[in-house]
Amino acid sequence: MADNYDLIVLGSGPGGYVAAIRASQLGLKTAIVERESLGGICLNWGCIPTKALLRSGEVLHNMKHAEKYGLKAEGVGMDLDKVVARSRAVAKQLNQGVTGLMKKNKIDVHMGTGHIDGVGKLTITDDKGKKSQLAAKHIIVATGARARDLPFAKADGERIWTYRHAMVPKEMPKDLLVIGSGAIGIEFASFYNDMGANVTVVEMLDRIVPVEDDDISAELAKSLKKQGMEIMAGAGVEDLKAGKSGVTAKIKDAKGKVEERKFSHCIVAIGILPNTENIGLDKLKVKTTKGHIDTDAMCRTNVKGIWAIGDVTAPPWLAHKASHEGIICVEAIAQEMGNKDVHPHAMDVKNIPGCTYCHPQVASVGMTEKAAKEAGHKVKVGKFPFIGNGKAIALGETEGFIKTVFDAETGELLGAHMIGAEVTELIQGYTVGKQAELVEEDFMNTVFPHPTLSEMMHESVLAAYGRVLHI
Ligand SMILES: Cc1cc2nc3c(=O)[nH]c(=O)nc-3n(C[C@H](O)[C@H](O)[C@H](O)COP(=O)(O)OP(=O)(O)OC[C@H]3O[C@@H](n4cnc5c(N)ncnc54)[C@H](O)[C@@H]3O)c2cc1C
Repeated sequence: MADNYDLIVLGSGPGGYVAAIRASQLGLKTAIVERESLGGICLNWGCIPTKALLRSGEVLHNMKHAEKYGLKAEGVGMDLDKVVARSRAVAKQLNQGVTGLMKKNKIDVHMGTGHIDGVGKLTITDDKGKKSQLAAKHIIVATGARARDLPFAKADGERIWTYRHAMVPKEMPKDLLVIGSGAIGIEFASFYNDMGANVTVVEMLDRIVPVEDDDISAELAKSLKKQGMEIMAGAGVEDLKAGKSGVTAKIKDAKGKVEERKFSHCIVAIGILPNTENIGLDKLKVKTTKGHIDTDAMCRTNVKGIWAIGDVTAPPWLAHKASHEGIICVEAIAQEMGNKDVHPHAMDVKNIPGCTYCHPQVASVGMTEKAAKEAGHKVKVGKFPFIGNGKAIALGETEGFIKTVFDAETGELLGAHMIGAEVTELIQGYTVGKQAELVEEDFMNTVFPHPTLSEMMHESVLAAYGRVLHI
């Protein structure tokens, strides 16, 4: 006999576990199925453990620059095993936190690999091969994604790493090649650079962090080069061979010159592949695009009763997007089940912020200046540098700027782009403004506390309208 539920959530990442909590709040009898670790990639192998590593890198960097603050730090060094152990402990703490949340919300956790046998039917196979059946009115697919390999070289965990290997290094890379300059590639490049490796980043497109505004890419490239990294944009790795002592990469640079280069290790960060295989989607004829499940703005697939959220669906592939979809999706399910008190709203991709926790940090929401112009907007652009902000000077963090892009006719904030210290904490101010559809006047009339980095957000808006105060 199958256990009966209102909802089964397949996968317990930030999409799945948040969906399960919201479902429980709405009174749905809920089960969650997970084959590896509660919390998914985000808590165990993604967002959180990388931030723990990056924090160690940041502290080391600051210790090395102690003199700048009138301090002495002698014998500064690092113990890689302890740095990694701290990161794993942080991940474990959060994984246990999710276990507690499932218990508190009376969500049944089933450890094992799930397979959807039909609408409302799911089989779980545990690690001993034992099978059990669940049934539910609704199933949410939240199975996430995994690292994409190069077509000509598979990650071996020794010399060629994916993010999973890079998170638990057995040894410190001496000369590190990072292929791909999206958020994951750049964060690892930044961490290992701070830890003392010689880092080379190869990006196929003509600039690093290519989803960001052109000015941000240029400023980040300048900063990373100043920190000692080699940045090769418009370049491609055409072949990669792992040997006993390192890797040999055939790299074609932006001018078309091909060279063989040797590195001790390589991190491949060229994107992700959705976990859509072997879970029963083909038989149900669930529609996908490049493997990612197609959904509407309420996370419905083309098959009634099957829903999908997070990395397994369309981009952006971010934890907060997955969680937010989890909430929207469950509220839409509850509404379908007759709950009149929920009012799910459709996801607006334009208002999803993106952050890269490299050094200096990068954060943005909305359109780049180029995209806004291409979309036909007449724009007003403001830019304010960290060097013009008292708190930034006091912190010794004068690198970077905040850029805002407004529609010249309506005053709508089309996009905000930041690079510098703590910008990943600042971006939410603009995100709230965008969500609330504030215009330039609202930002200008808002009082920002002094002294804070957030004052630069005010100044950037003032700059767009010719009213900047401190430059
Ligand atoms: C190194 C790295 C750093 C990142 N940093 C950030 C960041 O700073 N900010 C940010 O927003 N995003 C970040 N991300 C992306 C973020 O981790 C993902 O967007 C997020 O985890 C997606 O959540 P999800 O719930 O869709 O899937 P996942 O977190 O991938 O979870 C899916 C879960 O489903 C399980 N599963 C899959 N198939 C089955 C099955 N058949 N049966 C049972 N269980 C199954 C998996 O084991 C997994 O636990 C990072 C990713 C990486 C790799």
